Amino acid sequence: MPRLPFSPSFILSAALLATVPCGAQAKKGTTPRAAAPTSLPLLIGAALGGLALGGALGFALRKPAAPKTSGEADPLFDDAPFPLALIDSNEKIGRANSAFSHFVGVQNATGQVFSQWLHPDDLARVRALCSEVFSGSSAQSSGENRFFRADGALVHAALSIRKQGQKREPDTVLLGLQDVTARVEAQNELSGARTAIGALYEVIAGDKSRDLDAKIKSLLAMGCGRFELPVGVLGRFAGEDFETLFVQSADRRIRPALTFARADTDSSEARLLGLSQLPTRGNWRDFPIVAVNAGHAYLGAPVAVEGELFGMLSFSGLEARPKPLGDESGALLQLMAQWVGGEIEREEARRALETQQLALVEANQKLEMLATHDPLTGAKNRRAFNDKLAEEWSRAVRYGTPLSLVLMDVDKFKSYNDTFGHPAGDEVLKKVARTLMAAVRTTDFFARYGGEEFVLVLPNTDADGAMILADRLRQKIEGASWKERAVTASMGVASLTGDIKDAAALTQAADDALYQSKKNGRNRVTHVRDVPRVAV
Ligand code: GH3
Ligand code: MG
Ligand code: MG
Repeated sequence: MPRLPFSPSFILSAALLATVPCGAQAKKGTTPRAAAPTSLPLLIGAALGGLALGGALGFALRKPAAPKTSGEADPLFDDAPFPLALIDSNEKIGRANSAFSHFVGVQNATGQVFSQWLHPDDLARVRALCSEVFSGSSAQSSGENRFFRADGALVHAALSIRKQGQKREPDTVLLGLQDVTARVEAQNELSGARTAIGALYEVIAGDKSRDLDAKIKSLLAMGCGRFELPVGVLGRFAGEDFETLFVQSADRRIRPALTFARADTDSSEARLLGLSQLPTRGNWRDFPIVAVNAGHAYLGAPVAVEGELFGMLSFSGLEARPKPLGDESGALLQLMAQWVGGEIEREEARRALETQQLALVEANQKLEMLATHDPLTGAKNRRAFNDKLAEEWSRAVRYGTPLSLVLMDVDKFKSYNDTFGHPAGDEVLKKVARTLMAAVRTTDFFARYGGEEFVLVLPNTDADGAMILADRLRQKIEGASWKERAVTASMGVASLTGDIKDAAALTQAADDALYQSKKNGRNRVTHVRDVPRVAV
């Protein structure tokens, strides 16, 4: 018994055998008549043979049956598993097999007009194919076309039209169909998925300057379009609650930053969010994708961050989808959910790093503060003074600008401490520092030199200017209101001159001048230029 391989190629091949007339395009003068097939088995066999399937199907050739009229039973034609029909030049079906009737969705297509099921946009093309054969310009033609079944469903078929009989311009053609709906839909889905992946890529890699929030919003908008669902939500699980983080929806009830109890699965908002679909307990990996096509249409995938269930990325609508969501939609959603999870992970890592860096900057600032400031008075310390003086010394020497230094020392401070106690002495030092800091310009550099001594570096200030400033400071201290007893300070001033060779010499000169102030009775200002050489 010969095997009948009912593969698509077989079906298509068989379709190529056709002999039936078809068509409004039939040559003028051809009288349409009822389909009068010659031997259908022979035709089918010939076609199959022609398609190099003959080896397996040669049985048909070996048993050429006599031509049969349309009324006569012809099992090989009638029971063929692929749609076959004999069509005359008026597009009337002289004989249709049961597969054909089934394909177009009617009880029996025989006697009906073939073109009624053709997609209007494909009508002209199919008629042209038919007329090629009816006119005798070719023995067969083929093409892929769309049909509307009787129930309105759109189906796709590869169609083959083949001349029947010996006449150059046949009265009848055989139409064979191969239902390729599944393949075309898969291709459409695939190209849709490609477009979606392209759109996803745009979102992911498109604009580097956009922040994650903007990218997630575009992702939701893209998903709503792609899945034909009006609501897109990225939500986070917070204990037994579900919190909406990002929402794409015209429905005002669903907004970002809303919290829903996961146990609430009845309200329409909850159903829109797919709360009843969400994994409750157990391993979230067991719930990779949830797709519901009926009722409240819903497509959701869990979002994992660092291997833990973070939330759900979902698309939903209040109505059932006309067309179910295919596997590729789930696959795309999973890609989207993975990307979102990865991005959240990176964003969290970035924020953690930022916080760490901020803490590091703060710690550095604290260290810097500790290294350069005096903890008691808050003034700059001796070390900062050394650096500043070296810097200003070089600048003054290089540019030939003036530079002065004021060294000051609180008078009789030891006795203050001895009389009122060390803590009271500390308060005096703090107040002296506060008073002096408030009195100098920001370009002047003030520091605690050590003990009850302070120092002032005055860039671009000559001896006279420094003396005026120093005396003003002296008066500020003298004039301040002091708790226990009057406080005064003596000051020594030195300015950059040719005989001062380095910064240390400048400091020493100011100290010499200070000594002179002490010697002359304290609470006074002396410039080193006025110190008798013998004293120095
Ligand atoms: P003179 O007028 O000659 O400067 O006399 P003086 O007593 O101020 O000089 P002396 O150098 O003998 O004493 C300085 C005192 O300053 C000695 C020390 O106890 C005190 N002193 C130094 N640092 C601090 C401090 O941080 N807090 C307090 N309360 N006292 C300090
Ligand atoms: Mg002193
Ligand atoms: Mg002193």
